Amino acid sequence: MVTKVLIANRGEIALRILRACRTLGIGAVVAYSEADRESLAAQLADEAICIGPADAKHSYLSAPAIISAAIVTGCDAIHPGYGFLSEDEGFAEVVRAHDLTFIGPSAEVLERFASKEATRRLLSAHGLTTIPGSSMLRDEEHAFAEAERIGYPVLIKPSAGGGGKGMRLVRTSRELETSLKVSRSEAMAGFGDDSLYLEKYLEDNRHVEIQVAVDRFGNAIHLGDRDCSVQRRHQKIIEETPSPALSDAARRELAERALGAVAAAGYESLGTLEFLVDGNGDAYFIEINCRVQVEHPITELCTGIDMVALQIKIAAGEPLGITQNDVVFRGHAIEFRILAEDPAKDFRPAAGQVGAYLAPGGPGVRMDSHLYPGYEIPSYYDSLLGKLCVWAPDRAGAIARGDAALRELLVDGVTTNIELHRAILANQVFIDGKVTTNLLDRVGSAPFVAAGNR
Ligand code: ADP
Repeated sequence: MVTKVLIANRGEIALRILRACRTLGIGAVVAYSEADRESLAAQLADEAICIGPADAKHSYLSAPAIISAAIVTGCDAIHPGYGFLSEDEGFAEVVRAHDLTFIGPSAEVLERFASKEATRRLLSAHGLTTIPGSSMLRDEEHAFAEAERIGYPVLIKPSAGGGGKGMRLVRTSRELETSLKVSRSEAMAGFGDDSLYLEKYLEDNRHVEIQVAVDRFGNAIHLGDRDCSVQRRHQKIIEETPSPALSDAARRELAERALGAVAAAGYESLGTLEFLVDGNGDAYFIEINCRVQVEHPITELCTGIDMVALQIKIAAGEPLGITQNDVVFRGHAIEFRILAEDPAKDFRPAAGQVGAYLAPGGPGVRMDSHLYPGYEIPSYYDSLLGKLCVWAPDRAGAIARGDAALRELLVDGVTTNIELHRAILANQVFIDGKVTTNLLDRVGSAPFVAAGNR
């Protein structure tokens, strides 16, 4: 059972988890760093506790600080949100050792899926197609031999990776040696683990992911797909569901295959399987995320299911309580990640104090954001200011609502990518549902930025 949750995260996701706890009628305590003392989640919570300084290493990434905070405030569970310690099997183990519930997969499950390279092999053994690639690279010689075998261009990937960090495209053998060095050092700095593997680089791909939920009784459902092809430097900026890249039959087939494979491999909790879809419509598994995703609200808009509540329920040891037949997909939803960055200045992060702030409203509009007028954006963390999500009965309607909502959204005092979103929405390639993950990096954002300033 879970009766009181320590929310060990910040920003919009802390608020999202607080809302789920309130809806479920369970207690919640917001754990915040000194830089987040004035955060909206800390202010709205019935209880909040400081867990350390601004530097995440000593607060949101500090297991001792978080565990002590949970014990002191009488919590019996910890929700790690996304990022930080959300997929850390060591942390999940420590949480359990203190008789607390980790809201996420067990330490064993996290460990089984911790390495992207090993997960590729595991899920390919359970029927998922993967992109041709290498095993973990032992040394340079091995890397050269594997790259030749796979055929250039190849992508170097950190096995502990996330957020596009340390990933490098290598077009010829001449670039391989230097790129390996850069990837290794970026992976070490980002994840404390420099193991790398290679994957064939797919030129024009779409990113499509499948949302699953599996409880400890073997009940397993999927909540459909999301298309996250609008990216910059391998990071998602717009997501939508259902994916325009798949026919309904292909969508169902992929979701069922993904769910079957991951359940057979012993996965348990909420999770997302990510795929790249090539020009022929073939889907290749790339990785699994063992946590709630930033883009989960669009799935909630189309299914009506509170996914954070479902995640808490699974962790509390309860059965899912719904079957696949209960999951009904309605309409189309789009999410825009509102970021504090300047598209005109090479996307430089823009911290500062929010002046006026107005969230859009109207039918089918949802704003998940921790902003408020006068909020000082700390410079220590990521640039996500919130997620504007829209729903409509069809894709054209969702695009129209998206544009109307973006026009209403007001964030004064900080430079944001709101106009870039409007420009992408107005772009014919997006309207046609044909965006590939490399589009923004290939054409550059200049045409979008210029159009956005109309
Ligand atoms: P991370 O874990 O760092 O987010 P992923 O493996 O999930 O990395 O990949 C992130 C993005 O990088 C994908 O959505 C896609 O745009 C690009 N990508 C990953 N693998 C390939 C590949 N083999 N070929 C082309 N693009 C890729």
